[in-house]
Amino acid sequence: MESIIFIAPPAAGKGTQSKLLCDAYHIPHISTGDLLRDASKTENERGKFIKEQMEQGALVSDDIILELIEERLKETDCDNGYILDGFPRNIEQAIAYEKILEKLNKTLGIVILLEVDKELACKRITGRLNCPKCGSVYNEIIEESKPKETGICDRCGGELIKRNDDNSDTFSTRYDTYLEKTGPLVEYYQNKNILFRVESNDIEETFQKIQNILQGRIEL
Ligand code: AMP
Repeated sequence: MESIIFIAPPAAGKGTQSKLLCDAYHIPHISTGDLLRDASKTENERGKFIKEQMEQGALVSDDIILELIEERLKETDCDNGYILDGFPRNIEQAIAYEKILEKLNKTLGIVILLEVDKELACKRITGRLNCPKCGSVYNEIIEESKPKETGICDRCGGELIKRNDDNSDTFSTRYDTYLEKTGPLVEYYQNKNILFRVESNDIEETFQKIQNILQGRIEL
């Protein structure tokens, strides 16, 4: 199976769609945000630096990200494709990623651009709840995305948490950073003819559209 890169503004549904794909196709979901959140818990200078950068909504330095990504892609569960959520986030990372792929003898795969209205994205961010145990995502503001029981994951019974950077102030910084740094990747991948655009409003519809794209690629 081809690997999938998701490009999307914050809260466009990258995490949710990645989770669905990962369950349907049995390939790992690699979120650089999650890799960083784990690394930020380590009590050292690097952990502290990552935590500070993330809390400001700024991008963490490319060196750190590339190191984490290369290590993760070497694991055997990545041999049959994987989903990248949150990486690459700028042109420099995209170029460095291709060098890593060459080194590991892997191919680029396809890129899915999730498009979402800015106001809806803000609502999704401020109400977002995550399950740290199974990675499921809920929303305490959007009716159809609320968990059945307040604060508890429907899927695994884990206790839901709110991310430190999920607030309206950080949202603006993250959104602007996306437009400035990640926006140019759209043209970069369009020029390679591997970019697919998907409007991300309803979860099921979006997932169906992504599956249609993958089906088309598999039949080629
Ligand atoms: P996310 O979970 O993808 O929304 O990422 C949360 C935060 O992690 C971002 O606001 C950045 O601070 C950091 N981050 C995640 N992925 C990257 C990346 N590829 N490059 C730099 N910073 C990143």
